[in-house]
Amino acid sequence: MSNKKFIERTLVILKPDAVQRSLVGETVKRFENLGLKFVGIKLVLPKKENVRMHYTVDPDWIRLTGEKAMKAKENQGINISESAEEIGERVLESLIKFMTSGPVVVIAVEGASAVPLVRKIVGSTEPLSSDVGTIRGDYVFDSYAMADINNRAIRNLIHASSDIESAKKEIKIWFDEKELLNYSTAQERFIYDVDLKNILQ
Ligand code: GDP
Ligand code: MG
Repeated sequence: MSNKKFIERTLVILKPDAVQRSLVGETVKRFENLGLKFVGIKLVLPKKENVRMHYTVDPDWIRLTGEKAMKAKENQGINISESAEEIGERVLESLIKFMTSGPVVVIAVEGASAVPLVRKIVGSTEPLSSDVGTIRGDYVFDSYAMADINNRAIRNLIHASSDIESAKKEIKIWFDEKELLNYSTAQERFIYDVDLKNILQ
């Protein structure tokens, strides 16, 4: 197959709200429809350590998330006494509580440009402002304001890796190597093949 150098893997997690709201089929359908392939898929009850590990594969995530939340509060004219790290840690604790509240579906997705394509389908972090047509924009309407007032993680149905390197680390957290299968699908020929021989008889 040509175009192999474009093929990459990304991690999707259908969070507990997606499972509870019976949106598993509706969401995975969108990745399949696009032509992406699942190389690993399973239902998991996340452990606290796994969620912490998952959100700290980027060592700057806690601080950056805290800074982002701080800026949003400042823009609303709210005074903040905590540091960015403290706010980020609080968001992480709320995420751990959310992600361990019930089963999730973890999926290793493979395809050309899989990382940005999956992010595009998923939409931006806050459902209130995610684009229409994205999973977060179409199936949920939670906002930072509503989540923060109750000190809970924003319910946005789905996680998607932000870059190839994080994806590699995240996939290792949720899957054993033997659970990831290398195989081809019939439709891949039509997506990647140059010659398309043997169709006409
Ligand atoms: P994502 O990559 O779009 O999921 O966003 P991030 O990596 O920035 O954050 C991870 C998850 O943490 C998000 O999907 C939200 O569930 C939650 N989260 C991030 N930032 C905030 C915040 O400022 N407030 C609250 N309540 N939750 C947040
Ligand atoms: Mg992220």
